[in-house]
Amino acid sequence: MIIVMERGASKEDLKNVIKRIRELGYKEHVIHGVERTVVGCVGHEDKRPLQALETMPGVESVVPILKPYKLSSREMKKEKTVIKIEDIQIGGNEIIIMAGPCSVENESQIIHIAKEVKKAGAKVLRGGAFKPRTSPYAFQGLEKKGLKLLEKAKKETGLKIITEVITPVDVPLVCEYADILQIGARNVQNYSLLKAVGKVKKPVLLKRGMSTTIQEFLMSAEYILSQGNYNVMLCERGIRTFETMTRFTLDLNAIPMINYLSHLPTIVDPSHGTGYWRIIEPMSMAAIAAGADGLIIEVHNEPDHAISDGPQSLKPEKFAHLVESVRKIAEAVGRKL
Ligand code: PEP
Ligand code: MN
Repeated sequence: MIIVMERGASKEDLKNVIKRIRELGYKEHVIHGVERTVVGCVGHEDKRPLQALETMPGVESVVPILKPYKLSSREMKKEKTVIKIEDIQIGGNEIIIMAGPCSVENESQIIHIAKEVKKAGAKVLRGGAFKPRTSPYAFQGLEKKGLKLLEKAKKETGLKIITEVITPVDVPLVCEYADILQIGARNVQNYSLLKAVGKVKKPVLLKRGMSTTIQEFLMSAEYILSQGNYNVMLCERGIRTFETMTRFTLDLNAIPMINYLSHLPTIVDPSHGTGYWRIIEPMSMAAIAAGADGLIIEVHNEPDHAISDGPQSLKPEKFAHLVESVRKIAEAVGRKL
């Protein structure tokens, strides 16, 4: 249910409404919009109805949210969510590009790539320190050492850091180094991990699973929001289809669909979505044309020596070219890069 407050409702009115919501056994989520304040109430559906709150001072109406995802839906919040991380905004008019290697490998690699992607126009450095690999025998990441190297790269370049967290126990550690926590495709339905990142204040980039429907994806986001962390961005990174020519099929339908259903910013990962460096630039352009708020792209100075995901990693000069092509599309659709 959404409690829509009147335009002139007082702080006292809101306090009383929240008190009543709690008494009825629901949890409140207050959203201060440009026009007015709304209070989302979530709880078990068999609880006593909230409709009676319509009679309380300051309340304009009480309306049900029909979708199973509540806090992430446009019904709950009409205006797009803009995630602010110091001087950058994700979900605003500007297209944000995150770039860097699949894995943090060593100091010279990450510093070199960080400088290159910054020069080309990236605002966020990506790099995995904890790697969720299909094979237990594959490189699992440098872990804490990798986080420290990311910190060094941040100090040298000023780029924000996005890096993956794969278990709830590592959330506090990764929070010390990351500006954005990445939840990988394989963990999209790891509900204890989703709840753990929902309890912290860091923005989260949630990747769609390779066989997750859009509705399931939004329900996963709901797990994070329901714990009080509203700074969630949704990342399309390709799904499994019958096609074998590409690593995954980048489902760009998801972008306008999610933008219609949800207020959360959308990001596209054409590196994992295609698996092939040659087609990453056109798919990046298509993603921005489709309405994505940003891109996350794998870049490596020596793709043929990369420990992970070399075939889908762009050399810095190819990445710089991509940024210029994406800039043209961004301007064509009334956005900035
Ligand atoms: C990654 O970003 O390197 C990664 C492992 O991505 P995904 O979770 O989308 O497979
Ligand atoms: Mn990768």
